[in-house]
Amino acid sequence: ALSTRVDITGRDEIGQLAQAFNAMGEELEKYDKRQKSFVANASHELRTPLSSIKALVESLIDDQKSDIALYKEFLKDINSEINRLSRLVDNLLNLARLDKVKNLNKRDVDVERLIKKVITRLKPLAAKKNIELNLKMKVNRKLYLDPEKIFQVIWNLLDNAIKYTPQNGRVFISVKNKSGYLIIRVRDTGIGIPMEDIEYIFEPFVRIDKTRCRELGGFGLGLPLVKEIVELHRGKIKVNSRPKKGSIFTVIIPGDNSK
Ligand code: ADP
Repeated sequence: ALSTRVDITGRDEIGQLAQAFNAMGEELEKYDKRQKSFVANASHELRTPLSSIKALVESLIDDQKSDIALYKEFLKDINSEINRLSRLVDNLLNLARLDKVKNLNKRDVDVERLIKKVITRLKPLAAKKNIELNLKMKVNRKLYLDPEKIFQVIWNLLDNAIKYTPQNGRVFISVKNKSGYLIIRVRDTGIGIPMEDIEYIFEPFVRIDKTRCRELGGFGLGLPLVKEIVELHRGKIKVNSRPKKGSIFTVIIPGDNSK
């Protein structure tokens, strides 16, 4: 085990020290457990497409007389597994980079421009499902944030809202500043999240209803990244959701130079 426990005998300094020591040990153990489960999950996710690719390639090698159409079909399958792998590696790298460089690259940011950039890029995705994107923006000053990271936050929340909302649904984005804080709200009329699952959605590799999500192509790494970025900014993220009704994600981040 990583930690040793010290028996707490009194309420004096030594007793308090022992108590702090024990609490630290518990933290370390929790951290270690999470680290191990992260590696196990990541390996499993990497293994799955690799096994498919291997099986497909081997059957092509063993094959003697198939026509070109069948070959093409196999190659297409291999290609889509490779795409999945490469998306997973991108996701893992994003998280790893954040872990390594905990410092933010804060600047004075025109948040309205940033939001518009995300929306322009995600609009085609929404259009494909005939989802209406409603935007309400009221930011009257520049805010002091890390623009690339906040871009990722908005991107992931909006991408999820579109992904988990069926055809003809609606997505509402509201962005405003108040007393030096940036407040972003993304609401959708989608499938929602069962109450008992909400506490887990920010854990790596957690997907509610795995079969549905594999189809949608997620790895469960988007929200952990969002949470990490928000917390690096000393902000907070909150979720409200009801199955079949939709979800609301609210992010509050300090954006004052002095904070
Ligand atoms: P993924 O890549 O699977 O979307 P995330 O970490 O972004 O990973 O989200 C984790 C899980 O939380 C998703 O798999 C999904 O089950 C649930 N989820 C996230 N956003 C929404 C949403 N807007 N509506 C319903 N479910 C959501």
